[in-house]
Amino acid sequence: MKISDFAGYGDKMEQLMRSVQAGRIVHALLLTGPHGSGKRTMARLFAQAMVCTGHDRPCGACPACKRFLAGSHPDVHVVRPEKKSIGVDEVRELIDALALRPYEGGRHIVIVEQADKLTPSAQNALLKTLESPSGEAMFFLVTDAPGALLPTIVSRCQTVRFSDLSVEDCAGVLKRRGIEPERARELAGLSQGSVGRALEIDGDGEYRALRQKVLASLEALNGRASVAGAAAPLEEDKGSEDAMLGVMEIWARDLMVLQSGALPYQSGDEARLRRSKIDGRALLNGVVLARMQLASNVSWPNALENMYFQLTDSGLIGR
Ligand SMILES: [Zn+2]
Repeated sequence: MKISDFAGYGDKMEQLMRSVQAGRIVHALLLTGPHGSGKRTMARLFAQAMVCTGHDRPCGACPACKRFLAGSHPDVHVVRPEKKSIGVDEVRELIDALALRPYEGGRHIVIVEQADKLTPSAQNALLKTLESPSGEAMFFLVTDAPGALLPTIVSRCQTVRFSDLSVEDCAGVLKRRGIEPERARELAGLSQGSVGRALEIDGDGEYRALRQKVLASLEALNGRASVAGAAAPLEEDKGSEDAMLGVMEIWARDLMVLQSGALPYQSGDEARLRRSKIDGRALLNGVVLARMQLASNVSWPNALENMYFQLTDSGLIGR
């Protein structure tokens, strides 16, 4: 994979890369965006391109690239939360390592994953290094919650914001990764444009099982008397509320696509979507409402049954 393959961001990152290689600007890049939007992948590609000694960087084949990919390049320092945060000791260790000359004559490269997990004192320790760049270190801070970083850290960084791709662009990225076109389109639809999430779904049997369970529950809805029975299998599944609502949301969007006369993303399930008695917009509204109720501490069984009663009262079509 090349930086220029990155739908939507390749050009900007190529330009930044040229600036870095010419010794201009940036000692620190802050890559932000939702889970699965590609910021960590981009940080790694960029870092690899910086250590690469081949042509067409990152070449993936030179000794430096191989060391990078094996996680054993001596000048690349990856910091990530081992437990629930990144503490000041880990940052001090990093600073000590940066005080040494880079082994391979280039620059030190630091990738901080989930940078929002840096404790305030760790951030203050890091800030000092960011403020006095030796010219030999390049920092990549990756986070989906930049609000957790001190403003002084953010102001030292050049920020690159990632967002989810359009479903079409996401499918394109998946195809270039070798996923066959129909599957790529389906995954892109399921993940609503998040490449990372699509790849998770692709490899995740648990997700598929959960999805089947949710769809079976929706299909069991048929009037008020059916609500308790339809909801029961989902109610006992504590801790998966978010994922279950996510499945419903994607199903609702596809119902809306189909009910507007277009082709659904989940093409393998077209017949099943056509059989559904649920109105897509009503289901989507139900999901939004259930999320609000969960956020205000309504229990999952209550939120789910409220949604189902609403659906059976006014969200079923052809009745
Ligand atoms: Zn290389």
